[in-house]
Amino acid sequence: MTENLVIELVGVAKEYPGDVYALQGVDLRVAAGELVAIVGPSGSGKSTLLHLIGTLDRPSAGTVRIAGHDVAGLSDRQLSALRARRIGFVFQRFHLAEGVSALDNVADGLLYAGVPRRERRAKAAEALTGVGLGHRLEHRPDQLSGGERQRVAVARAVVGRPSLLLADEPTGNLDSASGTAIVSILRELNAAGTTVAIITHDDDVAGAAPRRIRLCDGQIVADEASGLDASPVHLRTGRGRRSGHE
Ligand code: ADP
Repeated sequence: MTENLVIELVGVAKEYPGDVYALQGVDLRVAAGELVAIVGPSGSGKSTLLHLIGTLDRPSAGTVRIAGHDVAGLSDRQLSALRARRIGFVFQRFHLAEGVSALDNVADGLLYAGVPRRERRAKAAEALTGVGLGHRLEHRPDQLSGGERQRVAVARAVVGRPSLLLADEPTGNLDSASGTAIVSILRELNAAGTTVAIITHDDDVAGAAPRRIRLCDGQIVADEASGLDASPVHLRTGRGRRSGHE
């Protein structure tokens, strides 16, 4: 039953030192091929949730299973390998290496996968072409617009063909036209089979997602389909689902 679940969280809590309960009792199931938006006010736990899904952090309680692997059963080294092979990340602030060409920024995304340099660069060129930057391979980040930088970041996130792409406010630093372009790229990647989870404050971005998960005070308070995807919603959530009202 769980074979096509990419994300499965059961009873997950995350407590930070100082009695900060960033997440409590979170149950969430996301099937392969879904596109979900994670929304909610600042401080509601969105980034914490994305970090746990991205295996960048471990829960204080509960189970996090990513692509069928229980994070608790993996060493830090095994988690790094899981991330390198399966998960791509895009952040609001791009996180590109300055002074390094777009091509090398993207090629470096394959370093941990142990791909030889020549092949890294060939795959990087392909990924950059895929995001419409085939004509900017040798440009450094300071020679690119914000929207182009974020496209480089998306290319770097997907160059290793991850099954799961996680984006934390990917349009937060962009003008609306560039943001729209990034959202269409994420949708194309999703249409090609990548499971995508996007944290966003942007109503347009959230509205473009077939499923929205709303957090408030560390809990999922709504999990809803937008009606964009008319197909039956498969495996949307487990027993923790609270179908909600906005
Ligand atoms: P959001 O992404 O929705 O803004 P976060 O997940 O960043 O929310 O934060 C949820 C709560 O956890 C907030 O109250 C925040 O202050 C707290 N928090 C986040 N990271 C840490 C940390 N490293 N140490 C202590 N508290 C944290």
